[in-house]
Amino acid sequence: MKKQRIKNLNSIDLESVEMTFDIIKYVINRLSDTKGILGNPKSEEQLKELVGETITEDGIGGEKALELFRDVLSKATISEDHPRNLAFVPAAPSKASILFDLVTAASSIHGAYWMMGAGGIFCENEAMRWLVSNTGLPETAFGVFTSGGTAANLSAMLAAREVWLEKSEINKTLKSLLITSNGAHSSIKQMAKVLGSDVILVEDGDNDNMNGEKLNEVIKGLQPYDYQRLFAVVATSGTTNAGIIDELDEIAEVCQKHNIWFHVDGAYGGAAIVVPELKPLFKGIEKADSITIDPHKWLFTPYDCGAIIYRDIEQAKKAHTQKGTYLEIFKDEGARGFNPSDYQLQLSRRTRGMPLWFSIAMHGTKAYESAVRYGVTIAKKSADLIKERDYLRLIREPSLSVVLFQRKGWEYKDYTNWTYENLQKGFALVTPTTWTKDGSEEVVARFCFINPETTIDDVKAILDSME
Ligand SMILES: *Cc1c(COP(=O)(O)O)cnc(C)c1O
Repeated sequence: MKKQRIKNLNSIDLESVEMTFDIIKYVINRLSDTKGILGNPKSEEQLKELVGETITEDGIGGEKALELFRDVLSKATISEDHPRNLAFVPAAPSKASILFDLVTAASSIHGAYWMMGAGGIFCENEAMRWLVSNTGLPETAFGVFTSGGTAANLSAMLAAREVWLEKSEINKTLKSLLITSNGAHSSIKQMAKVLGSDVILVEDGDNDNMNGEKLNEVIKGLQPYDYQRLFAVVATSGTTNAGIIDELDEIAEVCQKHNIWFHVDGAYGGAAIVVPELKPLFKGIEKADSITIDPHKWLFTPYDCGAIIYRDIEQAKKAHTQKGTYLEIFKDEGARGFNPSDYQLQLSRRTRGMPLWFSIAMHGTKAYESAVRYGVTIAKKSADLIKERDYLRLIREPSLSVVLFQRKGWEYKDYTNWTYENLQKGFALVTPTTWTKDGSEEVVARFCFINPETTIDDVKAILDSME
């Protein structure tokens, strides 16, 4: 019987050299094809039929596996960076950051401890320092990159609850309570579930957002038992649905008065703080105890990359530092430094801030300002186009880069039919949502602009398709 050679995962044979070139070629093609294909999902059965068995004892070979991905599977995913993908919150990672994502993986860095990942964590911290400097928070502030906004919000809330628990022995016997707004992201309620916290929602004020007065009313109306349980307020700086920023300055004041943690969820919109003329919209954010910003949303970084920033980074340590006998070996001078695992949930972690760092280092911060500014500008221009067309109705002036509008006479199913038709043609992905004002809910179309490659002609073509 012929003796089968067991392949070594790391052997440098002809096959792996070819695989390397094939993959680099794929990456170069994908990056240079900026208009790309939009992609369209298929059912799991359809995909299985198209690709067949991929997991076998002897392997199907790199060439085959890559071919299946390139020709079938990649086309069954939406290209988040397609210029006419304006659904949910799209993504548009810079080429530099995508390429450096490959470098990050190739460098095999463990990003939990300085001892292991000093050079990589240094890169992350350079990018973080720039981000923090834009918030106006004091010197004590710093942050850490997380897997996304959900993980960032949860990390912040864990820190907030720890501070509350330490305030009084009684608190250790209570179920914690947090307050947020109607417009808060779904992940806030999800996070409260993980924490075992109750949530109270504040109604919108006159500017369609949470303000100090409405928040104060809710707090004043709490029974003493509930007031004792209250540990945090979560404001949003750029609601995902409509781009609306809460009255951060007023909310900060209320939180200060009641001595409760003030968190700002800017997962989507927080990035706009890097644009000088947009900073006034965020007035009060400099009083936050913690801020979430997702670089994978509006800072042109590949998935997945969120960030949590703390007013006093040391406060996060109590909640997050993991203790284990095998983790106590930091003797070398060079091993003493910033340990990202002390400030968020994850232990083993990718130094996921490295791609952002490289791209900012390469292009400079001004390029980031103008790329974010572009989203706000094209949102305004799109609103003007909508106003010019009599079959459309603008719901409200855009906030940040979100535009809500209606096609007169359309119902929910007209919007969804239109969405799926556009998707099947490979033309565009624009999805409907709802807008609630004064208790009445309406179905609306929604644009969210992230990609600097989206042109006003793209927008015109999409609006034309609704006529
Ligand atoms: C997207 C978003 C989140 C969740 O972030 P993920 O990165 O998807 O986990 C939280 N809050 C807001 C406001 C968001 O837009």
